[in-house]
Amino acid sequence: MDLLLTDAQTAWRERCRAFADEVMRPASAGLDAARGYPSDVIGEARRRGLYDLETILRAAADPDGLMLPLYAEELYRGCPGIAAAMGASTGAAMLIAAEGTPEQALRWGPACFGIGAFALTEPGAGSDVRALATTARRDGEGWVLDGTKTMIGNGGIADVTVVVATVDPALGSAGQARFLVEAGAAGVNASEPHETMGLRAAHLATLTFEGCRLDADRLLGGQERLVQRLDRARRGEPRRGSGPSATSPERSRPLFAAGAVGIARAALEWTLERLAGSGRLREGWVEQALGEVATEIDCARLLAWRAAWMLSNGHAPDGGEANMAKLKAADVAARTTARLLEVAGPSAAGGSCDLQRWFRDAKAFQLFEGTAQVERMNVARRVVGTATGAEERRPEPALLAGAEA
Ligand SMILES: Cc1cc2nc3c(=O)[nH]c(=O)nc-3n(C[C@H](O)[C@H](O)[C@H](O)COP(=O)(O)OP(=O)(O)OC[C@H]3O[C@@H](n4cnc5c(N)ncnc54)[C@H](O)[C@@H]3O)c2cc1C
Repeated sequence: MDLLLTDAQTAWRERCRAFADEVMRPASAGLDAARGYPSDVIGEARRRGLYDLETILRAAADPDGLMLPLYAEELYRGCPGIAAAMGASTGAAMLIAAEGTPEQALRWGPACFGIGAFALTEPGAGSDVRALATTARRDGEGWVLDGTKTMIGNGGIADVTVVVATVDPALGSAGQARFLVEAGAAGVNASEPHETMGLRAAHLATLTFEGCRLDADRLLGGQERLVQRLDRARRGEPRRGSGPSATSPERSRPLFAAGAVGIARAALEWTLERLAGSGRLREGWVEQALGEVATEIDCARLLAWRAAWMLSNGHAPDGGEANMAKLKAADVAARTTARLLEVAGPSAAGGSCDLQRWFRDAKAFQLFEGTAQVERMNVARRVVGTATGAEERRPEPALLAGAEA
């Protein structure tokens, strides 16, 4: 076992960190205040080779599984809002690359680096995606989408949005499929961006689909694969293959965990710099806070790296390792930013101060991609399952699992 980074991983981390320091951080406060979209920053990421399909797929192929967690930690340390906007595109692209037909991967994967989005959540279906009400019905060779998606990162401004919809309600989440919706498609309306507490550069919006007609080639993965999958589900057969699929939420949890670690680290570095030379760093209660925060950050990072390593090395995180990583890191980010606000004092809560912004950004990690409560429940069920035997293991809720191949 070796926890030291390779030369290639170290160099990659330095590249990401330089971009975060030189480009993301200076833009961060302004974008948060104006709720602006970070087009210029993302353009610079593209110029620096940090925002394109090939780079992301190469990072995802790291045998240790650490390149993407390193990317997420550095970018979220730079600016969580911008990183979330980039992450919404990257997530959509990885889905398309993993699940799409070769033609779809070639056309729509790169289109996400424009802007991409993934639309799952609905007003009545968040943690439990079995409750999705958006439907896709056949119309000749094509499909028609109807329904409402809410809190969609890059919503309404994406060049391509991957939309999850139910094609066979009798099958629950196994009866869902994913569709590619291009910018400007008829029958799609987008709200103004939501007034969010944090991650304001990520442009969350509600999308409404009313009779949105899609050609047959907009079904992600194609018709033949959908028919096979639905048939298997009707026969009650399990998904093919062992371990989490390429698009399972298990795979994104370590990345969100790493992002949360990045926010906590930004807050710690900021506090150390702010208090340097003031004598306060030697005060007993401040030492207690800093010692705890630094330990928690390393704990969270190690959990994220373990889960990422497992997923890249053929070890399914059946003990809840991916859930633990996301849960711990989200809690650490939220608690660290709150604790360090107390350490730094009331001036750090001022409107233009980075720390208060990270405090608002950090909270989101307990609310999305497996809320803190849902992740605790997922870990508990794995633990109970391990203790009582596999037959008593209850499946985790279908969180983000809709239409898994
Ligand atoms: C910043 C941000 C960005 C987002 N981006 C996207 C995006 O790009 N695409 C997208 O599709 N969605 C996105 N979302 C939506 C997000 O994934 C959902 O908000 C999340 O899944 C929770 O769903 P919900 O809001 O419906 O809450 P609910 O699922 O209704 O949960 C409400 C509360 O009940 C708790 N709860 C729910 N079920 C249980 C249970 N079984 N046991 C115990 N407690 C439970 C939850 O923890 C939560 O506290 C984003 C959200 C945020 C905040």
